[in-house]
Amino acid sequence: MKKVTILKAVAASLLVSCSSPKKPAESTQNNNFYNVEQFADLQILRYKVPGFEDLSTDQKKLVYYLSQAALTGRDILFDQNGKYNLRIRRALEAIYTNPKEDQNSEEFKKLSTYLKRVWFSNGIHHHYGMDKFLPEFSPEYFKEALLRVDASELPLASGESVDVLYATLQPVMFDTQVLPKRVNQAHGEDLILTSACNYYQGVTQAEAEAFYDKLKDPNDAAPISYGLNSRLVKENGVVQEKVWKIDGLYGDAIALTVYWLEKAATVAENATQKAVIEKLIKFYTTGDLKDFNDYSIEWVQDLDSRVDFVNGFTETYGDPLGLKASWESLVNFKDIDATRRTELISQNAQWFENNSPVDPQFKKKEVKGVSAKVINAAILGGDLYPATAIGINLPNANWIRNNYGSKSVTIGNITDAYNKASHGSGFDEEFVYSPVELDLINSYADLTDELHTDIHECLGHGSGIILPGKEDALKAYGATIEETRADLFGLYYLADEKLVELGLTPNMDAYKAAYYNYMMNGLMTQLVRIELGNNVEESHMRNRQLIAQWAYQKGKADNVVELVNKDGKTYVVVNDYPKLRALFGELLSEIQRIRSTGDLDAARAIVEAYAINVDPALHKEVLTRYATLNLAPYKGFVNPVYTAVEDADGNIVDVQVTYDESYADQMLRYSTDYSFLPSVNN
Ligand code: ZN
Repeated sequence: MKKVTILKAVAASLLVSCSSPKKPAESTQNNNFYNVEQFADLQILRYKVPGFEDLSTDQKKLVYYLSQAALTGRDILFDQNGKYNLRIRRALEAIYTNPKEDQNSEEFKKLSTYLKRVWFSNGIHHHYGMDKFLPEFSPEYFKEALLRVDASELPLASGESVDVLYATLQPVMFDTQVLPKRVNQAHGEDLILTSACNYYQGVTQAEAEAFYDKLKDPNDAAPISYGLNSRLVKENGVVQEKVWKIDGLYGDAIALTVYWLEKAATVAENATQKAVIEKLIKFYTTGDLKDFNDYSIEWVQDLDSRVDFVNGFTETYGDPLGLKASWESLVNFKDIDATRRTELISQNAQWFENNSPVDPQFKKKEVKGVSAKVINAAILGGDLYPATAIGINLPNANWIRNNYGSKSVTIGNITDAYNKASHGSGFDEEFVYSPVELDLINSYADLTDELHTDIHECLGHGSGIILPGKEDALKAYGATIEETRADLFGLYYLADEKLVELGLTPNMDAYKAAYYNYMMNGLMTQLVRIELGNNVEESHMRNRQLIAQWAYQKGKADNVVELVNKDGKTYVVVNDYPKLRALFGELLSEIQRIRSTGDLDAARAIVEAYAINVDPALHKEVLTRYATLNLAPYKGFVNPVYTAVEDADGNIVDVQVTYDESYADQMLRYSTDYSFLPSVNN
């Protein structure tokens, strides 16, 4: 179980956790708080940190120190992603900030866009697609612009001329054949030699695999994540690790990480959290992966602290062998209000189970809700910046998860920023039928979509029983049926007066926003994520189409839901919301029966009838309409700025948060204030 990085990757769609009927890629050109700027295929957003002002002074100081630590590893990630990245970034920044440069020239504008993309991807390869993206300015312009920069501003090695720097960087940046992919996963090739990432130097895939196979002990009850925190190199014919630690590779940056962690330890909320920080410092100091295990075990058991963090070598997606972890950081604190909401739902789990439309023989006699913790991000760093996940599920070591548990959280303020930014993107205006539905969506959809996710997660998956021996009976249809079940549980209860009674929804209109969105998404708009000619493959998308198509078809006799043509465009119209709810209840009962009894034939029949096939004409129409909106499929964030307020003696007495920094200003500031590594790291 990895962190929910699928989300980070598919920023296009906000594939939230395993549920949530999110609308696809939306962005906007309007200049509200959440939208910062758009270029290439990227949109930059801003997020708020609600509740920060309510933290105690010590908690604010803790967030401040940890957020400083979160920015110290940015250069590490650039170098991990490719060995020329730091030189390229610094050369481009020197040109970008050179007062002699004509900022109005077309070539300069192209260089600005390229630099913004390099910042976004923490290197020269696309953060999601992994392919190298090319500058649109000419190599000649690049060379002339380099020569216009004061040489002291350039990332020149000792004695190196600008000509040599240019000759080094030119093919790396401009030649499609050189380092074309950051992570190559194609079978049959040497994955190390064909990947541009900087985790291995001078070794082949076979040599690397042999090196680590020798270290592994299959009988170890506390397995070590060999290779996680080092570069593997061959020097003088010997394959060896260069460990990332305070007196090793990347030590200049790690020393600053440790400096800020030591400060953080002085304001830890409790002894457990203090021990977590101290164990992380120890790991950064020794580089010993046993110390990493100790740290991870301590971290997963710190459940009482309001402030929490991730800091270090964490995810291995950037290594084709999946061994070496990129540096990342996230500082966060518990969102008390949102967590209260999920707790309230969980506390009433038995009521929801008892009152569901499911056949009593398939209900749980005793049901326990799961209480999901909702957090707000305070800062994003390393491989979580600017593109980020919206959920975290750590640690990655399975034996630690099994023995000590794991932490699974959703990042509320990031989800909220995505939602808010999408308003006014033109997406709803294009696809929603009339001002009546638009009004419902603008008033209630953020709330009801979140609630739907909460019920899906806290109750849906845990509801119902499965008859003995039937756990895996649905085979390849199992995932789609299970998601369908959890989604329906959420949809059915969104329209229940119980939610108004509990204060979770304001009235009996709110649910209609979620119902409309769900039907529009399932019948039409989720198709923007599928290429013309393809059918629905992904299991969450299948589950959404299954529910929407089934309800549409079954409700036809009563005209519950219609597809209406207006001015040559197709729209979803919901004519009878209470009847739609009854249909969701009917389907929930049948899906629960299929799941409880392991009825494979029925599962296959219902999935094949409703979940997979796409109407090509409607698909084409949706894609055409979507293309006119000109939306950027990938999104990332600028961070807030934290400023420590000191008294006359230099003690921090408060920390203030501001949100007015631009994308380029922030990147340049990080490159000045948080750049601790040399341009070449060997
Ligand atoms: Zn789910």
